[in-house]
Formats: sequence, structure tokens, C-alpha cells
Amino acid sequence: MMPSLKDARKRSSKQVLIKDHAYKLTDIQKQLGVNKKFFIKTYGCQMNEHDSENIKAILEDMSFEQTDDYMNADLILLNTCSIRENANNKVFGFLGRIKNLKEKKPNLIIGLCGCMVQEEVVINKILDKYKWLDLVFGTHNIHELPQVLEKTIKDKTLQIEVMSIEGDIIENVPVKRDSKYKAWINIMYGCDKFCTYCIVPYTRGKQRSRKPEYILNEVKELIKEGYQEVTLLGQNVNAYGKDLNINYGLENLLEDVAKTKIPRIRFVTSHPWDFTDNMIKIIAKYDNIMPHIHLPLQSGSSEILKKMGRRYTKEQYIDLFTKIKQAMPYSSITTDIIVGFPNETEEDFKETLDVVEKCKFDSAFTFIFSKREGTPAAKMEDKISIDEKNKRLQKLNTLVNKYSKLANDSYLNKVVPVLIEGYSEKNNQYLMGYTDTMKLVNVKGNVTDIGKIVNVKITDVKTWSMDGEVVE
Ligand code: SF4
Repeated sequence: MMPSLKDARKRSSKQVLIKDHAYKLTDIQKQLGVNKKFFIKTYGCQMNEHDSENIKAILEDMSFEQTDDYMNADLILLNTCSIRENANNKVFGFLGRIKNLKEKKPNLIIGLCGCMVQEEVVINKILDKYKWLDLVFGTHNIHELPQVLEKTIKDKTLQIEVMSIEGDIIENVPVKRDSKYKAWINIMYGCDKFCTYCIVPYTRGKQRSRKPEYILNEVKELIKEGYQEVTLLGQNVNAYGKDLNINYGLENLLEDVAKTKIPRIRFVTSHPWDFTDNMIKIIAKYDNIMPHIHLPLQSGSSEILKKMGRRYTKEQYIDLFTKIKQAMPYSSITTDIIVGFPNETEEDFKETLDVVEKCKFDSAFTFIFSKREGTPAAKMEDKISIDEKNKRLQKLNTLVNKYSKLANDSYLNKVVPVLIEGYSEKNNQYLMGYTDTMKLVNVKGNVTDIGKIVNVKITDVKTWSMDGEVVE
């Protein structure tokens, strides 16, 4: 089955189906991975990270064993991202590097999945230049991996299973979580916002919220397993529930999850347009809803925001930011900013710098606009040179970094709660974890602190991290 952007754009009033038993394995499929290893590389956002946790569990149900060394693998899967051109290039670069492995190991299976393969241009490129791949499956087909893989092994021909549909909700897909302490929970899939630069509504389908009872049961199971933190995931979590028609939104879900007493609750990603006063009230009310909000700005120019289809103005964004800060002065607010949207003027760019000056974000992911084929913005005329866009990005980054460091400075000598996740990757003399406000801290502590929320005194601050030591 091949993808079609035209079909992926469609939205109907068709009822979303909740499929509790769509994931099934035959006895043959359960044995396909005996004595075989798989390697998976994940690109992109937390949704993809979580999809990879599902894929890992499915492969283990099929008796595959995971390896961190792709040279050693019988199956290599790349779970791809299509948010920017650069993400696509990275995947094709990696494929170029591993192609010769197939000559040495003829039975090696190499496959692609994730958002990128939902794009027609990518599938056409695969059929033209990467026919040596073995399998390709889309974001709506993860639960069908056993069937696709069985066919790949049997037929020894490239299998492409990519549906361009609005999507259903598949409830019984297994999961092998990367962490024993913090867990991702999908609360919704897809997006109906259709921001003009964004490919996600095409690659992930229509907005489909999971029913609250499924989410709450998942949280309760995680509490029993000793999890300390859950992150509620969706492309636009503030719109959660709008499609359920039960008068139950993110504020209700946050409150119900808070009442389970799980120690930490986070949620990403927010869209300013759907952020209500009630949500702010609930976030401020419960200590176990973390005081960190990722609030994508994208541009500070109301004119550009209109062209982006973001449905808020510069002033509305600043109002919302101010309301959140007034309700939770201690909270940290981070953001995403795109520079160089088609025909962004110097004045437009200055408006963005102005919002950064006013909001003093704790940190920001900043990007140069990347044309995604099939989206309205890809067709917009653009006279701004890449050199100019690069200059703007550098200028923006200098300002963003200044405020990140200033925000971190305010933590010096303070004692803050940190969930210790394990050893620091950079220096294994240190442990690492995140504060309630989502600041990365390298911590002098004891191995017995791993998996616990401990009080840490901040002893040094940098732009992107801090150092600290556990105190009683
Ligand atoms: S709300 Fe987010 S995911 Fe949805 S279209 Fe806009 S940028 Fe893309």
C-alpha cells in the first residue's frame, strides 16, 4: 500500500474506531526472531521515541533480541522523522553507510518506518534509488509489523505498507519502556491544526483522543510498577478531548491524573490557541503537575503567524505567557521558534526578538524554516537568502542563550527536587536528572538515589545544564 498526501489531507466526520484486539501474532510470527538480533535508531520527537518503545516490544514478542550495535544485527530499523529536510537527509545518509552490509550479510533486513515514509516523495525516492531496502511501514501500521515482517522474510522482496488514512486508535500494542522511572503516555494521535509549514497532520492523521479511562488505567499500572513520572503526549495536547464529544478536556485529564498521586506529570506539546484559563488553574493547583510548559511561539510577528496559520497574534501569545507566569511565578516556559519563514522581513524578525526580550524563555529550540513538500508554505514565494536566514538564526540564538543562562543563574545555591535517572553520559562520576522545571542537572550523589526524587543543591550553572549535590 502506497502513501498519498492528497488522501492524508482529508478529514471526515467518520467515527474513530477503538481497536482493542488489532495486534495479534500467529505462532509462526512469535518464532520469527529466534536467535536473531534487531537494532533500532530513532529520529525526531517524543512521539517517535514512544513508537520505538512499541516496536521494540513487538519485536521481542517475535523473539528478536535488541542490540546496540547495528553491525551485529539481523534486522535494522530506522524510525524516521519528517519535520525538517535535514531529518530526511540524515536517514538517507545512514542508509548510504549501511548499504554495503547487505552484500556481506544477504539475509540482513533493513527497514524504514515513521513519519518520513508517509511522504510520497520519499517512497518514490525509495523505489528509484533504495530498492535494496526490505520493508517500509507507516505510522498507522505499527501494530501490523509482525505480518509485514513475515511477508518480507518469505517473499524476499521490498514490502511497503503505508496507509494514508485519518487513523483509528489501536489500544493493545505492547510497550517496552526505555526508562524504569519515567514513561511516555500517548493521550492523542494526529493533528487537525494544519499549520501551513507542518507535515504532521499528513503523516499522523486526524486528531484522535484516547478515552480517559484507558489513559488513567495506564497511569495506575505505571504507579504499581514504581514509575515516578509520566509525560502525556500529543501533537497538540491542549486540544485533547475535543473529538470525544464528552465535555472532557486536558484540564479534566490533568486533574484526574494528578489525583492518582503519581509524583510527576508533564505534558507536551501545547498549542497557545487551545490553552484555557482553566488549564492554567489546574496546573497551578496540583503539586504533582510539573511547573514547566513548552509553549511554541514559532514567530513573534502577527503577520507571519497569520501566514503560518497559527491562529494567535503576538499580543495574544504574550498575554497567555503573562497569565501562566502570574499563576505560577516559579514555572519555566520553553518554546520553539522558526526563523526565515517565506518572506519574513527584518521587521518581522525584530518582532520575534522582541517577544524573546519580553518573555525571557528558559530555553528555545530554534530552526530555520524547512520546506516540506505538499504543505501550503512550500509553495510560498521566498526571497530571503539562506545567508540572511543563518544570520538571523545566530542573532536569535545569542539572545535565547543569554536568557537561558540568566534563568539558570537564578537557581544557584537553591535546593530543588530532581528525579535522578541514572549516570551522566558525559561524566560517569556524576548522576543526572531533571528538576521539576525541566532543568538538566549533573548531580554528585549515591547510586541508591537513582529512580528517586531527591533534593539537590545547585552548585554551578551553565547555559544548558547545572551541577549540584544531593542534600538531606
Ligand atoms: S499544531 Fe503542531 S503538529 Fe499540528 S499542524 Fe501545527 S505545528 Fe504541526
